This record gives sequence, C-alpha cells and structure tokens, in this order.
Amino acid sequence: MNAPDKTRPAAIASIGHWIGGRVAPGQSGRRADVFNPATGQVSGQVALANAGEVDAAVRAAQAAFPAWADTPPIRRARVMFKFLELLNKHRDELAHMITAEHGKVFTDAQGEVTRGIDIVEFSCGIPQLLKGDYTDQVSTGIDNWTLRQPLGVVAGVTPFNFPVMVPMWMYPVAIAAGNCFILKPSPLDPSAAIRMAELLKEAGLPDGVFSVVQGDKDAVDALLEHPGVSAISFVGSTAIAQKIYETGARHGKRVQALGGAKNHMVVMPDADMDQAVDALIGSAFGSAGERCMAISVGILVGNAADQIMDKLKERTLTLKVKNGEELDAEMGPIVSKVAQERITGYIGQGEKEGAKLLVDGRKFQGAKAGAGCDNGFWIGGTLFDGVTPDMKIYQEEIFGPVLGCVRAKDLKEAVDLINAHEYGNGVSLFTRDGNTAREFSRRVQVGMVGVNVPIPVPMAWHGFGGWKKSLFGDMHAYGEEGVRFYTKQKSIMQRWPESISKGAEFAMPTAK
Ligand code: NAD
Repeated sequence: MNAPDKTRPAAIASIGHWIGGRVAPGQSGRRADVFNPATGQVSGQVALANAGEVDAAVRAAQAAFPAWADTPPIRRARVMFKFLELLNKHRDELAHMITAEHGKVFTDAQGEVTRGIDIVEFSCGIPQLLKGDYTDQVSTGIDNWTLRQPLGVVAGVTPFNFPVMVPMWMYPVAIAAGNCFILKPSPLDPSAAIRMAELLKEAGLPDGVFSVVQGDKDAVDALLEHPGVSAISFVGSTAIAQKIYETGARHGKRVQALGGAKNHMVVMPDADMDQAVDALIGSAFGSAGERCMAISVGILVGNAADQIMDKLKERTLTLKVKNGEELDAEMGPIVSKVAQERITGYIGQGEKEGAKLLVDGRKFQGAKAGAGCDNGFWIGGTLFDGVTPDMKIYQEEIFGPVLGCVRAKDLKEAVDLINAHEYGNGVSLFTRDGNTAREFSRRVQVGMVGVNVPIPVPMAWHGFGGWKKSLFGDMHAYGEEGVRFYTKQKSIMQRWPESISKGAEFAMPTAK
C-alpha cells in the first residue's frame, strides 16, 4: 500500500454561507473552486450567493437588529471579550486556514490573526467609545447632549489578501456598536469567515447579528442595491472601490471604500544600509508582495543605490520560497493562477520597457518549494533596477513579489515622485536625520507614513486609510473613525415644563 499523499486533500470541502446563526448551503447553483496555492490542487468549492440569498441574510439581520441595538453596550462588549478569548485559543487554527487557501507563510498568517485580534480588543472598549457629550444649561432650563446610535444592517466586502484581519477591521467595531453585520469575503479564501462566525456564536452573539454571504460580483451588487443595507465597507482594488463608492452612494448608503496601492520606500544616503535592505526585502516579499502596504518601489537617493544594490540582489536570490506550512519559509506561493499570470506579464512588460531585470522570479520552479508543489502558483522574488516613472511597472499595482528600484538625486525629487503617483496608501523613509524625517512626513501626500518603519499599519485605536486613489470616502477603517462610521450622531435638547415660558415663539430661538 502506498503512503497517503499529504499534499492531496482528503475530501473537497463544501463551503456555504452563514445566515441566521447557522451554515446555509448555497441555493444559486453557482460555485467556485477554492485552491491550495502551494500545490495548485482544488481543496474546496464555495457557494456563490444570488440576490435571494443576500436578501435572506439581510432579513435575518433586520430581525436581529432591534434587540441587539437595545442591548447595553457593556453586554455587547462582554460578547467581544468572550470572542477574544476564543480567538486567542484558536489563533493557530485560523492561521492554518489562511495558509491553506491564501498561501502566505504560517508565521505571517499568525501575525495577520494577531493584528485582527487587536481590533477585537479595541472593540471591547465600546462603552467608552460610544460615550456622548453633554452641555448643561445651553439656554436657561435647557440641556443639550449627543449620543451615537447604530446604523442598522451594515455590510463588508473584503479582499483575498487578509481573509481574517481585514474583515476584523470592520465587524468587531460594527457589532460592538450595535449593528448587524453581513460579510462578503473573497471567494479565493472563504473558509476562515465561516470559522469566525462559529466562534462568534460560541461567544454568545445572537443569531442574525453576524452573517456571511459567500460570492462574487452578483452578491456585492445585491448588497449595494438592497434598501435594507445602511452602509458598506469595502477593501480591495481601486477600480472596484470606486464602483462601490459611487453605486453605494447612489443607493443612499454610507460608504468607506479602500483601494489599491503602490507604496514607495525612500532610502537616504545616511540611512543604516543593513536596516534598509532588511526593510526592503521583508516588505517587498513578505506575503509574496500581496499586501496593500507592501513596498513595491524603492527610491534610492544619491549614492544609496551603490551602497545597497548588490545586497538587494543577493537577498532576493536567496529568499526561502517554500510551502507556507514550512516554518522556515520566508515567502509562499501566489494566491491564484490568474494572479500568477498577471504578475509574470508585468515582469515581461518591465523588461520590454527597458528596466534592468536583476533577479527574474519567473525562473523559480515549484518543485523547489517542497513536496507536491510542482503545480502550485509560484513566482520567486523579482528585482528590477533602472525603473522610471513612465513605465507601467512603476505606475500600476502589480500585487506580487516584484520590487522596482528608482534612482533620485535628492529628497525633493523623491517626494515629488511619490506625490505625483495616483496612489497614496503607505510610504516609508529610511534616514538617520531628524529634519529629513520631519520634512518628509509633512510634505508627502500619503495617508500612512513610516520613518524607519517599512510597513506603517496603524494600530487598532489609530485607524487605517490611504489618500488619493487608495481610499474613496472620508472615514478610515477601525479606530475612532471606525466607530463614527458605524454610528450616527443624535443631538437631544431637553427642558421641563417649569422652565417653559408662556406663549408661542416665532423668532429663531436663541440662548436666553
Ligand atoms: P478585488 O477588488 O478583486 O476584490 C475585492 C472584493 O470585491 C472581493 O470580495 C471580490 O469578490 C469583490 N469583487 C471583485 N470584483 C467585483 C466587481 N466587479 N463588483 C463587485 N465586487 C467585486 O481585490 P482582491 O484581488 O481580492 O485584493 C487585492 C486588492 O485589494 C489590491 O488592489 C490591494 O491593494 C487591495 N487592498 C487594499 C487594502 C487597503 O487597505 N487599501 C487592503 C488590502 C487589500
């Protein structure tokens, strides 16, 4: 008898929706294959919701909303505390699910879950975050105060690249604030959403407060058009973000839509070059470059390029590209065949445009990544020098393990380049000079700035959001802006009969 093939899934999983507190198998007849990107094998099939299934989720959420909105914030927070406990217990299980469907290396997946848990911790403080303000005696005998109330049923549409963390940018805050939340995850890695739903139920969340509709454009369009959905949070590529923002607004919804990115790292000649190389390599190739905060452009100022280019090449060539389940893996596979083809297309494009291809990740063979990986979706780390702003590989988001280096003569030229780019998600600067850091941070037209920090993803209580084509809408994800996004302010003015003077008043009321 042959030994069992560990790379082949025992059975193809059937991944359904989560509606009204239980798994709901798909009714639409449409399904999509889910792959293990390391092996290229189908591991599951996910249901793709139609408008009827979206409507069922919205109705379940509408039914749950009045009681949940009326639940005292501290009791909602207690559900979050219990959920937090369960997440800590199941952290590695969720991380394995991410690695199996996304491909990112296990330690990176653990980091993803941890950064999601941060937002759950933040949401445990919801009684403090929902506090209103109060003015005694705005006019004689009249008091005025504000409070924040939940919106109702809200939805989140999320990308493939953080199947746990990005949904957690949204639903813990929305739910703790008293809303009912419908998640539409990416069909590429849908399993973690259902596991999170099970854990929320185990934590005591009432049925209907959190739902999952799996699917694609059809499900998203149904959410956008549904009159029962009050707000949509979106994270994904810019073209879709813009569509979500415009269509959602046309249907009277509150929308925050976070889009794509092209993040630069400026290396000044005075930087610690070993630190700068570590930072470039980690942030360009971590998660195979499939992060919205990945660094895809290095701007090497003055003689910085002479100091680091050889080291960058050496480090790119020696990256440990392996099945993400291997604990020493530094980079895993690309999420899908389509993405792999898009990225290899960009590498060819860069060559045609005249950039200098120092390391060609297309040559990487899956067999080198581990047993059973021959047919996985693999690309090795790729390094270009001599990239210029007129090239497509500079202008467009590649979303893969491709680092392009641009030369600039001074800080001003570097900042001008960044400010002229259509994206403005994250940026980083490596220097030892305080004034350079200060000038850079003040002048750069980008939402999230790192000084000697390569991936400046703000912590849970600060809020996340880029500028320009990286964010449509004006509210950032999570943090206090997240609380504001998922609540509406009500202002109440009150007096009692003892302080009401006789007679109708026809002039605009003023303080008396
Ligand atoms: P994507 O835009 O293809 O998909 C995002 C979501 O939109 C998915 O749920 C998908 O099913 C849905 N969708 C896809 N096409 C649609 C359509 N035509 N109409 C309605 N919905 C549609 O993005 P992706 O490939 O899953 O993720 C990668 C992108 O996400 C990158 O551009 C990356 O920069 C971006 N991203 C941005 C941030 C941020 O915070 N700004 C964070 C993570 C990822």
